[in-house]
Amino acid sequence: MRSRWSDEEAAAVVARYGARWGEELALRTYTSRLLGAEDRLVLHGGGNTSVKGIFTNRLGEAIAALYVKASGHDLATLEPEGLPGLDLGYLRKLRALEALDDEAMAGELRTHLFDARSATPSLETLVHAFLPEKFVDHTHADAILALSNQIGGERLVREALGDDVAVLGYVRPGFQLARAVADAYEANAGCRGMVWMRHGLMTWGPTARASYETMIDARAAYACPRRRRCPSGRPSHACDRWRPCCAAAWPSRAATRTGRTAGRSCCRSSPRRCWRSSTATGAASGR
Ligand SMILES: [Zn+2]
Repeated sequence: MRSRWSDEEAAAVVARYGARWGEELALRTYTSRLLGAEDRLVLHGGGNTSVKGIFTNRLGEAIAALYVKASGHDLATLEPEGLPGLDLGYLRKLRALEALDDEAMAGELRTHLFDARSATPSLETLVHAFLPEKFVDHTHADAILALSNQIGGERLVREALGDDVAVLGYVRPGFQLARAVADAYEANAGCRGMVWMRHGLMTWGPTARASYETMIDARAAYACPRRRRCPSGRPSHACDRWRPCCAAAWPSRAATRTGRTAGRSCCRSSPRRCWRSSTATGAASGR
């Protein structure tokens, strides 16, 4: 799986939507569509995306906002209207509650929309709200589910994705999942993604592109052919003979932080971006 990001297409989406919706929401729309174009990521139409920004109300007051995919909207054909805005400050306060049933949660979401005519926000909205990251992507990636749905799945996920991804045991979707994800995020400082066992994968980043490409790279790390060929039989991230390709599969923390995840291909049979600079040697890049 390769990144479908195109500077030209991104610029075209910003040109089309930027004046009315702003550049961040335009790019959020663009990378949501890129995720939706990957059947292997959005099984059964699942997955949702968000971006945090500022909403200015009729009084001219600037309010922290969460724009999250609406329930029932397809990522592949998403329009900016499919990312309703909510009062982020209020939503974050909800984390202090011990419990909130699905009906009450849906009511809280609807009453804290900035526009009463908006589509209904995803039932996973609070997961996005409770994370501090700017752009957040969530999918039901087939490869991740293939690992996490097995007996011993947590170990398999850790071997495939390494220490940079947090792993959360199964939690029923809803308010408790949102709280559990926030707790796991805080307990795994510096992690760049999180697998929810028997559910899916979440990634994030400072830009729409960074969050999207971390998702693509996580899916690709699972499928890395060099890892499968590793002769040592040792777990992936413990194997030096495998590590160069592994390093290419996941961009560095610094690259994710700065949004610079694009580079060059590192694996002949499964090209993907490399976080190393273009001057990296062939050996270092796994060739
Ligand atoms: Zn989900």
